[in-house]
Amino acid sequence: MRITSFGNVHQLSFMPRLFPVNCYLVEEGDELTLIDCALPFSAKGILKAAAGIGKPITRIALTHAHGDHIGALDELKRQLPVARVLISERDARLLRGDRSLDANEPQQMIRGGVPKPGAIRTVPDQLLCEGDRVGSLEVITSPGHTPGSISFFEPQSRVLIAGDAIQLRGGIAVSGKVVPLFPFPAMATWSKEQAVASAERLLQLAPSVLAVGHGTMLRNPQSSLSRAVAEARQALQL
Ligand SMILES: [Zn+2]
Repeated sequence: MRITSFGNVHQLSFMPRLFPVNCYLVEEGDELTLIDCALPFSAKGILKAAAGIGKPITRIALTHAHGDHIGALDELKRQLPVARVLISERDARLLRGDRSLDANEPQQMIRGGVPKPGAIRTVPDQLLCEGDRVGSLEVITSPGHTPGSISFFEPQSRVLIAGDAIQLRGGIAVSGKVVPLFPFPAMATWSKEQAVASAERLLQLAPSVLAVGHGTMLRNPQSSLSRAVAEARQALQL
């Protein structure tokens, strides 16, 4: 596991060279918010990193319900029973293993590693909507990769934690655009059209740092993110 820090945001990267899977510890006063839960074996490393910072994890907020973002959820909740678990209302359904679509959604199959019904024991404590606050972080809905994908934005530092709405490993790309060096997030994406619309909204936040599920954090991402959005639009002929 590799730890990279930017201010109060710490990126924990598992298997950073081979198949990087990130989660984040955000310091909030005396407490920590964990964003995403990486892989099943990651619980130990996450708890060790929190112990190194010397603050307890009191919230576990999830960007979406894919297996490489919820892998250690049950084990962490077992070891941290008072930590509150937060996820979007829409992806809470995926967390329960329900892949059904609503009538007003693009009728495309939800892709990627979604847990089987009943596989995840943890029941979320709070369902998040656009504009909700998680500590200092603002919830930004960013559907596309999954129907209920959300991002977390810190308005003061302008750090944006975008889950898999954007990928950075192998080159910056909007979710759904295949990056030959790391095609997995694209293969796991539900609606490319919604992903582009979400990326445009994220671009408008003018983040100072872009932090995602796969790839190292990127400072001053404006120009490269805007290029990635343009490329994704072009690929979809929008
Ligand atoms: Zn994903």
